[in-house]
Amino acid sequence: MRLILFGPPGAGKGTQAARILEHNPGVVHLSTGDMLRAAVAAGTELGKAADGYMKAGDLVPDDVVCGLIVERLASPDCEHGFLLDGFPRTLSQAESLQSELDRAKIDIDRVVVLEVADDLIVERITGRRMDPETKRIYHIKFSPAPEDVSSRLVQRADDTEDACRARLAKYHSETLPVLPFYEARNKVVRVDGVGDPAEVTSRVLSALAR
Ligand code: ADP
Ligand code: ADP
Repeated sequence: MRLILFGPPGAGKGTQAARILEHNPGVVHLSTGDMLRAAVAAGTELGKAADGYMKAGDLVPDDVVCGLIVERLASPDCEHGFLLDGFPRTLSQAESLQSELDRAKIDIDRVVVLEVADDLIVERITGRRMDPETKRIYHIKFSPAPEDVSSRLVQRADDTEDACRARLAKYHSETLPVLPFYEARNKVVRVDGVGDPAEVTSRVLSALAR
């Protein structure tokens, strides 16, 4: 399985990735957001370069992100399949990814677009919390953490209303224009991302089986 999970910030890509992987053991979850946050936390040069863009809700430059993904895709564990979450986010990233895949003589099976209207996004993003130990994603209202976990939850630095609105604007101007690239290759399936997360997972799995 080689999948791209596509959708606006807060569409539920991370939440659905974890659930899809429960049904597909061995498939690797590749989240550029998680990789970049790890680089920021580790204080690497790449992390220092990315930090300001991320806090402002801007996209990190294509060459930085493509470098991370290309290196990761070459690792042996990705041979069993991968699920890209948050990449590609620009047409140039999609083109770089495609040349890498062509070179390796493999291809993406599907691009799953999680559709969630803009007016639901701000509430999802500002209420998002993460367990730093298990990396599980929660929501203060829609998916509350168990009591023993709730005291250690953290909020992402870019999950403010201002950064969220900036990310949504970038999604419309830079990321949505990626879809015609995959539509021309017949890869796109659209899934309603509103409703109980388990229900959304069933929609994704049945869309993939079609
Ligand atoms: P969200 O969960 O809100 O969709 P991510 O965790 O995927 O956000 O990404 C967080 C931030 O990391 C983005 O706002 C952006 O600054 C940076 N980022 C992640 N993936 C990419 C990418 N493919 N291209 C450019 N910037 C990226
Ligand atoms: P993304 O990776 O696309 O940015 P997340 O999976 O991190 O999105 O989800 C964003 C927030 O919305 C999280 O707090 C998550 O718990 C919540 N969420 C995810 N899926 C749903 C859903 N189907 N209904 C309500 N809230 C959801």
